[in-house]
Amino acid sequence: MKIAVFPGSFDPITKGHVDLIKRAIPLFDKIVVAIGINSQKQYLYSLDQRLNWLEEVFKNDPSVEVDHYEGLTVNFCKKRAANYMLRGLRNASDFDYEKTISQLNAVVGDNIETVFLISRPEYSHVSSTIVREIIKGNGKVDAFVPTIIAKELYNV
Ligand code: ADP
Repeated sequence: MKIAVFPGSFDPITKGHVDLIKRAIPLFDKIVVAIGINSQKQYLYSLDQRLNWLEEVFKNDPSVEVDHYEGLTVNFCKKRAANYMLRGLRNASDFDYEKTISQLNAVVGDNIETVFLISRPEYSHVSSTIVREIIKGNGKVDAFVPTIIAKELYNV
């Protein structure tokens, strides 16, 4: 079984994340979309809210599972029997950051392979950070988040 973990904060999940996961579905038997909990980090949305949104977005994709973890991502991969980690690359700064992490993870995580997909151009400017800033400023984010999340946020 080819199992991949797609780790992130998903605070909130964006159309960029969804596009990446959908494109990776044909590559793996199972993709575990996993929210990593970092006790030092302040989140805009609760863990339950973020998990619910993930469940909702992927409810029609049987090979996509949703989970969460604390601690090292490589340990969670081991727990889920995943030999692959999935990450997205939007630009050169993502690359610099991800390159180091994936090289470290390969050592700490017993040769775990990180598989990178380059984001589609229409999503390369989309990040959860930007989405949170727009929400905090009372702007509209329906262009950047899945429809079900936009509906909940704006009660439409
Ligand atoms: P983190 O807290 O680790 O930055 P994120 O939830 O922001 O987690 O992102 C998780 C993964 O999704 C990362 O690999 C990131 O590069 C990727 N990603 C985020 N936004 C996009 C996007 N717009 N297009 C493609 N990949 C993306």
